[in-house]
Amino acid sequence: MAETKKFLLTDKEMPTAWYNIVADMKNKPLPMLNPQTKKPVTKEELCRIFAEELVDQELSQERYIEIPEQVQDIYKMWRCTPLVRATGLEKALDTPAKIFFKNESVSPAGSHKPNSAVPQAYYNAKQGIARIATETGAGQWGTALSFASSLFNLDLRVYMVKVSYNQKPYRRLMMNAWGADVFASPSDTTEIGRAVLAKDPENHGSLGTAISEAVEMVMKYNENTRYCLGSVLNHVILHQTIIGEESIKQMEMAGCEPDTVVACVGGGSNFGGMAFPFLRKNLTEGKNINIIAVEPESCPKLTRGVFQYDLGDLSGMTPLIPMYTLGHEFMPADIHAGGLRYHGAGSIISQLVRDKLVNPVAVPQLETFSAGLLFAKTEGIIPAPESTHAIAVGIREALKAKESGEQKTILINLTGHGYVDMYAYEQFLAGKLKNHQIPDEYIAQSISILEKII
Ligand SMILES: *Cc1c(COP(=O)(O)O)cnc(C)c1O
Repeated sequence: MAETKKFLLTDKEMPTAWYNIVADMKNKPLPMLNPQTKKPVTKEELCRIFAEELVDQELSQERYIEIPEQVQDIYKMWRCTPLVRATGLEKALDTPAKIFFKNESVSPAGSHKPNSAVPQAYYNAKQGIARIATETGAGQWGTALSFASSLFNLDLRVYMVKVSYNQKPYRRLMMNAWGADVFASPSDTTEIGRAVLAKDPENHGSLGTAISEAVEMVMKYNENTRYCLGSVLNHVILHQTIIGEESIKQMEMAGCEPDTVVACVGGGSNFGGMAFPFLRKNLTEGKNINIIAVEPESCPKLTRGVFQYDLGDLSGMTPLIPMYTLGHEFMPADIHAGGLRYHGAGSIISQLVRDKLVNPVAVPQLETFSAGLLFAKTEGIIPAPESTHAIAVGIREALKAKESGEQKTILINLTGHGYVDMYAYEQFLAGKLKNHQIPDEYIAQSISILEKII
């Protein structure tokens, strides 16, 4: 009989708690600072921006946090997501390695992002918040939060990075279909947006600017409006650990344990979500799983950035976050993996990279699209451009195993499908895409403006 191809948990077997890796870290992440006072941000300050229970999670040292029952019920719309043995890809690579992927593309929004959008909408609604403002890069977070907001009857205003707004009309339309209002950022609806446009009317936008616009809106309507962020922060990564918790059980069903876990990094939420439960085995059970964080060569914060306090946005409205960063004014090339164009990585991930518990790798754009097409041809799913970064490195690892003849087991996080990103594939197939290597001088310059706090 052929080997089992995919592994699923029943509703009864589903994890009921998220995992907070901070509890198991020897070197805790440094605190976020208020940019004016340079003192650790207080719960009260954060509560002006975020729903209170999310702030509690952000600051929590508890190892496990119960998933509210209503959130567990909504998760069941698409979870458990399949863990799939990539037999087609293995065969194409002629590798002795076993390759598995966790398919997060089966959610309503087509990515892992609803894993955090749903609890964020839930906690805001529970607190009586009526309106949410947020930003979106490639449009994935905006679509996920639009879906989640519609379930809880929340008004949603999305600032979408202009380059994606123009390149990805279908993402915008998905948000509209779920009832959200979408603005191209920089927009003329906020002071920061107008300031950026005054300086550079052709500005393509960045996640940093879009975050600033959303936070400005929250401050303006603070009595009933809060902000939601799709990545970077501890509570977002916490919610995503449902991915890794399920995967651990599914890998047990498959009768193996991964030697290597690979995920891509934008702000770090899918990476942390997949990797932290496995990293727990390294930290508490003496395992030695190779945890690889993949970033684009054009936005190489983990491999070429500095560890420093930096702003999460362009205008100084967010706290200072201790992170690997390229500087908040770093403008990445318009690569198609829009979700990976963020200048920094979350504080927990940054601390883990600093402590060499996570291995970062940067890959060039063309390699990622080749990997994506090979994956599509062998496993059927056309991956999101972000996900192709993890696939590319999964392939590198499988080829290394072929060379050394080792029976490695590789687990890749497939964060989303690319069906709303076909423009990117069109460009690639037409030979119009290129690699973007960043000169050292440009990185040195964008880092040089940072105030040295550590
Ligand atoms: C947003 C996104 C990412 C990157 O964001 P992280 O927070 O780093 O996970 C990766 N893949 C897809 C499909 C995305 O939508």
